[in-house]
Amino acid sequence: MVLPAAIVWDSALLGYDLGGEHPLNPIRLELTVRLARALGVLDGVELLVPEAAPEEEIRRVHDAGYIDAVREAPLAGWDVGHGLGTSDNPIFDRMHESSAMVVGSSLLAARQIASGATKRAASIAGGLHHAMRDRAAGFCVYNDTAIAISWLLDNGYDRIAYVDTDVHHGDGVQAAFYDDPRVLTISLHQNPLTLFPGTGFADETGGTGAEGTAVNVALPPYTDDRAWFRAFHAVVPSLLAAFRPQLLVSQCGVDTHDEDPLAALSLSVDGHRRIYQTVRDLAETHAGGNWLAAGGGGYQLLRVVPRSWTHLIATMLDRDVDPKTVLPPEWTSTIDRIAPTAELPLAMGDGKDTDHDPWDGTVDQPVDNSIRDTRRAVFPLHGLDPDDPRD
Ligand SMILES: [Zn+2]
Repeated sequence: MVLPAAIVWDSALLGYDLGGEHPLNPIRLELTVRLARALGVLDGVELLVPEAAPEEEIRRVHDAGYIDAVREAPLAGWDVGHGLGTSDNPIFDRMHESSAMVVGSSLLAARQIASGATKRAASIAGGLHHAMRDRAAGFCVYNDTAIAISWLLDNGYDRIAYVDTDVHHGDGVQAAFYDDPRVLTISLHQNPLTLFPGTGFADETGGTGAEGTAVNVALPPYTDDRAWFRAFHAVVPSLLAAFRPQLLVSQCGVDTHDEDPLAALSLSVDGHRRIYQTVRDLAETHAGGNWLAAGGGGYQLLRVVPRSWTHLIATMLDRDVDPKTVLPPEWTSTIDRIAPTAELPLAMGDGKDTDHDPWDGTVDQPVDNSIRDTRRAVFPLHGLDPDDPRD
């Protein structure tokens, strides 16, 4: 049986654990894989086991001095700087090794596609999109996704599109390729005036020689599924058609959910499922079917992340799960053991209708301002008319 996607996963990835009450708890990944297994989504699928990335690969995106600081931080008795040792990015045991394992996960996914073994590959532990060249930021130590893109640029790809649907701006990936016309980064996120990292405005459009290859859609707080898809469809497909990528990389953060404790967008699990199906279609239409998916944010650990990323895995494998599917008792009993008071949803969806009214070129709801600002900032740079909804 030839599977349409490779899925990278190993329990060693649970070592990326920021500890204590930190919101990025790796249990979300373990619960995702358990749920996917319980539903049969992973039947007959051999999960690919990553190895820690060597330092030379990490250096594609990060300074040697920063990598040294990460490696030495757990033993250092002083302030190591580089954003390490803060409440967002606490120092933890084997921080370098665990972070290099996440990089290895996304690199393995990239290699699967580049080798022709598969057209789709998932690294659900990846998507640490805030890490910068010389510092940790926003729970992210090494920018696995930027490193994977850099590797792909050296291994046969010279037009890569990155689509980031996390609630936060994909600032680290944008920064890594801001001056590189070979990489189109598109990020849809909650308005940076209201959320970390405070960047991702429509007027951030790419550096000299790469004008138009950074795209930002700053969405109003409380944007729901319908408004989110109105914005997505008004911006993303046209740009992909104009850019003609050979491969689509998506960062699939699910902190856009209405119940996420760290942000204020109002998407549903049904919306997340539709995002993956939409990205799959776009990869087929505009990127030769090549799709590398990384995880990302998501802090409603029990009720949201496992369901949403099970949909991601299922979508990649063309084993789409009906949102009405009842959660399997084998999985809910696990949750009952670890969190007896948690109130779990009953089904794989939230019962939401995600159909949207396409943007018609006017401004008659709050999200239309976001659409207009982004289109006017970048569409002319791709030969597209920002005010014509047919473009
Ligand atoms: Zn996020």
